[in-house]
Amino acid sequence: MFDFEIYSPEDKIILPEVEEYNVQLSLKRDDLIHPFISGNKWRKLKYNLIKARQENKTHLVTFGGVWSNHLLATACAAARFGFKSTAFVRGEDIPSDILFFCRMFGMQLIFTRREDYLDKRGLFVTHFGPDAAAYFINEGGSGPEAAEGCSEIISELKETYDHIFVAAGTGTTAAGLINGIIKFANTPQVHVVPVLKGADFLESQIKELLIIDHPFQFHSNYHFGGYAKTQPELIEFVKRFTSSTGIIIEPVYTGKMLYAVEDLVAQGEIKPGSKVLAIHTGGLFGILGMKEKFKF
Ligand SMILES: *Cc1c(COP(=O)(O)O)cnc(C)c1O
Repeated sequence: MFDFEIYSPEDKIILPEVEEYNVQLSLKRDDLIHPFISGNKWRKLKYNLIKARQENKTHLVTFGGVWSNHLLATACAAARFGFKSTAFVRGEDIPSDILFFCRMFGMQLIFTRREDYLDKRGLFVTHFGPDAAAYFINEGGSGPEAAEGCSEIISELKETYDHIFVAAGTGTTAAGLINGIIKFANTPQVHVVPVLKGADFLESQIKELLIIDHPFQFHSNYHFGGYAKTQPELIEFVKRFTSSTGIIIEPVYTGKMLYAVEDLVAQGEIKPGSKVLAIHTGGLFGILGMKEKFKF
């Protein structure tokens, strides 16, 4: 329905700290799908956009914080595929490179007090209730349409793997991957690395999105203090990974997930001889909000 061909190869990564354990690491380069409609955000939007088009909706309405990769992806996708877009943005209008680009793509931004932001359906109904053209997309694009899009990652794989690693915010991408493994009868074990603290609720949230029950590993101790929190060790890792592979990662999602890969390999949890695929879920613009933490 949309003229949008994607490119996301499986790149073999040479990382000495993983190679020394004789583990082969590849990255599924969803970050290359598009600079702005990046990574899992395209996967999560795809079936939402198809549904919006089928229902003759012409205006995408969504939700996010001032550094939300999802807002940027929605703004760009809306412009690219001929939709209007509006976002309810949590909190104040503070300087943000992501919001700068959202505005460039013509997204209308409605800054919303944190108390009001909690009730997303309510906000949608209040502002766009009678507007038949408006299409609701939840924060982060989460939901069954999003999980379906993410399951396609598995159908694209050219190699076989023993383990697949993915970062989790809402867990929708992880659930989609597991569903893909069920649907396409693939064999790898899925490892989910939540990026927030106290994310045990995520485990059941992921289970709810699965088409049938399926085991997965949940590694809840790589949050580095919580969502968007960092520690010097994580920043050092992100720098080392980027400078030794030529592939940029960021500290909010992919940095924590790849740190977990390296750590679990060193601990022997991932056995020598294993083939590991890590999903590069993109989201690189977020790093522009963390420049001072890197002190280059
Ligand atoms: C949004 C995002 C995630 C989290 O995806 P969920 O489906 O919410 O778990 C992971 N990585 C990056 C780079 C993201 O932007």
